[in-house]
Amino acid sequence: MKSKGNYTKGLISRCTNYKDSDIIFTLLSEENGVQNFIGRGAKKPSSRLSGHIEPINYVEIYYSSNSSLAPVSQIQPINSFIKVKSDYNLLMKSQYLVELSEKFFSDETNNKSQLDRLLKTIDELTNTSHPELVILVYEYELLKSHGFGLSIFDCINCSKTLNRESHYFSINNSGFYCKDCLGEANSSEELIKFSIESQVVFRSIERRNYTAISQLDLDNISIKSLSEILKKSISNVLGVQLKTSRFL
Ligand SMILES: [Zn+2]
Repeated sequence: MKSKGNYTKGLISRCTNYKDSDIIFTLLSEENGVQNFIGRGAKKPSSRLSGHIEPINYVEIYYSSNSSLAPVSQIQPINSFIKVKSDYNLLMKSQYLVELSEKFFSDETNNKSQLDRLLKTIDELTNTSHPELVILVYEYELLKSHGFGLSIFDCINCSKTLNRESHYFSINNSGFYCKDCLGEANSSEELIKFSIESQVVFRSIERRNYTAISQLDLDNISIKSLSEILKKSISNVLGVQLKTSRFL
């Protein structure tokens, strides 16, 4: 037993029905990373756990052992993200964010800051007219915080500062080539042309200048194509494509 007792806070990412009335679920917990639990009898309406175990619920959990599938003794809802769940599109987007985050959650270290960022981002989805941009910022920051940040200001080949003009981005090398170095790119590299405006979006995210982003004329910038580039970079890092990204 831990000295603090078996207690943690986290976001439920997945649930599976088990036997007649049990639910097995995965929690992105702030202290222990990805943890699996079992809610015995949770499907019975009379159970104290009833109604609390579902994906995208932020909960407080008490559990009785440190086994790999610990039974939950008590569960308290903190935020069930009702507004997100009442909108199918936002729900799909949130499920993508949760699946993505789970892949990057570490089992060993404290994940509180990553969990806090995820919760804040899901919340932001309901308060914005550009949910795609909110997701873009999250993806960008997630790659960066795990050491896979994109090289935005300098050429990945000669390290010179990039001029204010369109440039080609290499998915394989997570950065831009300057005009002089474009010929150095490997023929197997996937290159995507970026306009100045699209580069400004990534530069503003890199500088955390969110005011600048909100002032951009987003109707004239294809957030979708930027988002596809980040998704390609992410699947490059993870080695897999996320299931839920297809529904965005
Ligand atoms: Zn160069």
